[in-house]
Amino acid sequence: MDKILLAHGAGGNKTDNLISSLFLKYFGNDTLNELDDSGILANLKSDRFAFTTDTHTITPLFFPGGNIGKLAIAGTVNDLAVCGATPKFLTIGLVIEEGFEMATLERIVRSMAATAREAGVRIVAGDTKVVERGNADGIFINSSGVGPIQNSVKISADRIAPGDKIIINGTMGDHEGCIIAAREGIEMEEMLESDCQPLAALIGKVLDKFGKNIKMMRDPTRGGVATTLIEFSRNAHLQFILDEDQLPIKQQTAAICEIFGYDPLYFANEGKVVIVAAKNIAEQVVQLLRDDGNPDAAIIGEVQEGDGLFIRTRVGGLRPVIKLEGEQLPRIC
Ligand code: MG
Repeated sequence: MDKILLAHGAGGNKTDNLISSLFLKYFGNDTLNELDDSGILANLKSDRFAFTTDTHTITPLFFPGGNIGKLAIAGTVNDLAVCGATPKFLTIGLVIEEGFEMATLERIVRSMAATAREAGVRIVAGDTKVVERGNADGIFINSSGVGPIQNSVKISADRIAPGDKIIINGTMGDHEGCIIAAREGIEMEEMLESDCQPLAALIGKVLDKFGKNIKMMRDPTRGGVATTLIEFSRNAHLQFILDEDQLPIKQQTAAICEIFGYDPLYFANEGKVVIVAAKNIAEQVVQLLRDDGNPDAAIIGEVQEGDGLFIRTRVGGLRPVIKLEGEQLPRIC
């Protein structure tokens, strides 16, 4: 079986072969095909752009619902989309361990290309480095991305006001639950799948319809919904209250949390968006999300005067939710 050699990252003939037989085959477009030192982006007309980067080190590389490549594209696309941008262009940096199976790399690259197509983004530049055996764990992927922000959109925590509603597009913690199940070899009747997916199209529809009534958004990745809302609360100087009854959680995720003593509020998501929206349109936002294939979308809480994040428990009390010292689990994205 073909394997990655140090020479594939050395810039010579082997690198050329890898670029033409793999990267251009799957990612090829007018800009990338030029193979210049930079991708040239022309005719970009906007006053504001979002620009972001993320590095992916997840283990295992393949998991139910996705793989490190799909994650790398979706993660960067989602970071742009939640800032109100339309994701347009990505760059990809690969660090590959010597001896990595070429066929596995092709599966990952094919999945990246499919996810990029789905998200409407083009890969316009890339880089590959190969490190000696033992100096990386298979493959690490960096992805950076850029996209314009429409004038009708203003996503900012300082626009959040008392009375605003907190919305999520589906069940919490599917990604981290799935990774724990994969690592621990947990057998379930119905396997928990990662929610890993690009959200650009969905968020685009929400912004087109509701514009400035959408105050703030974030993809609750590492640290989950709890960490996201604690940061919203700090930045907005307001209190966030979640309704325990309204939090959408899959049975399998709840079971994994019970076994290992985790809290799903802190579980990472890779295809979820937390939206803070004006009260008067919140129900319509949820309806749009549901109509667009997100049946578990829900209003999960509201904003009021004060500070901090609290959960209104089933018996009616308020329980404070605080930030964790570190991650619940390393290398989940
Ligand atoms: Mg993010």
